[in-house]
Amino acid sequence: MTLRLYSTLGHAKRDFQPLVPGKVSIYVCGVTPYDVTHLGHAFSYVQFDTLRRYLTWLGNDVRYVQNITDIDDDMIMVSKRQGGRPIPEIRDENDAIFRNDLDRLNVLRPTVYPFATDHIPQIIDSTAKIVGRGRGYQVGGDVFFEAATFPNYGQLNGVTIAELAKRENPESKREYKKRGPLDFLLWQEVDPGDPSWDSPWGLGRPGWSIECTAMSMAHLGDQVDIHGGGRDLVFPHHENEIAQAETVSGAHPFCGWWMHNGMLQLDGVKMSKSLGNLVLARNLLKDFEADHLRLYLLSNHYRADANYTDGELQALGERYERLKLAATSEGAAGPAEAGGALAAEFGAAIDDDFDVPAALDVLDRAAVRVLAGSAAPGDAATLRSLLAILGFAFAGAKGPATGHLSPSPV
Ligand SMILES: [Zn+2]
Repeated sequence: MTLRLYSTLGHAKRDFQPLVPGKVSIYVCGVTPYDVTHLGHAFSYVQFDTLRRYLTWLGNDVRYVQNITDIDDDMIMVSKRQGGRPIPEIRDENDAIFRNDLDRLNVLRPTVYPFATDHIPQIIDSTAKIVGRGRGYQVGGDVFFEAATFPNYGQLNGVTIAELAKRENPESKREYKKRGPLDFLLWQEVDPGDPSWDSPWGLGRPGWSIECTAMSMAHLGDQVDIHGGGRDLVFPHHENEIAQAETVSGAHPFCGWWMHNGMLQLDGVKMSKSLGNLVLARNLLKDFEADHLRLYLLSNHYRADANYTDGELQALGERYERLKLAATSEGAAGPAEAGGALAAEFGAAIDDDFDVPAALDVLDRAAVRVLAGSAAPGDAATLRSLLAILGFAFAGAKGPATGHLSPSPV
């Protein structure tokens, strides 16, 4: 069976085929390290880590880029609140904590982990090209992308420009200066004392979405196979990224598959700092093994909204122990059967839009058979190798420091 993946652009599943056979490029929007990260971030990055591992196992050389947004309103606000503390210090402190959480969850380090502030020349160059191609305009020290000049603006969201204009939009605060309500900042003038860089439009700093476009194009070229992130980024961030990238490069489509993970809620309420209902991975890791938490996060389909409750994590304990016991049993040490029925059943499940929960059901049934002594020969070893593909350390999955994986099909 062929891997079929859903793309938000077109709202349909299609057979996955990278632009260059055997090579897959993935860009996943990273965090803005102005504060703590929560379980919702872990959910997203564990999902994309597992996708990366699976694509590698299928025989692809995967290049995975995940950025750090280290200059934006929030970073500046926190710096001011902390008495003008340098932003790189705030970034490095929060990033180290975030990285440590993901390391413990056995998430592989990205192939490239770029900072937005290291890409100012590329951002300025992209902005200049957009202006030169008639889709950007300057007002004072600000430069905007004029959304209406881009054909099919709104395509990712599947709605017209008029409908998009009615949505809540973080770009709307400067509306009074813009030609159209959906126009968004490529470059912005700064308040006195804020971090700034010299540009053809004066001292300023980048807009939000152009940062990801510049980093994606710098490290993956004009087109990417997969662009991932939370569903809350579909508008305006990713809609803007398409408009920017295709204007700069002329290549279409910018991205083959737009993959968006669902949102993690706590007892039915969106997690947010202002509501004080954040669940942190590092707190859960005091009481649960990292692989147990990874199993919990992977038990939700990446595209579905997940609802965290303490009870659900505990309830998975029995399944977790069963998988671990079967994967570390005596028979699991032998060679895996790549063409066996278990591997085929696993493949059929996961190939349907990366349905890891269905694949885990297959593996759990196999674990029951292994522990009951009724499994087919080679099943225990196959079970172990398939759990390793999903990133479980107890099954021998490669650890975070590996960074770049080379293809190693079973
Ligand atoms: Zn982004």
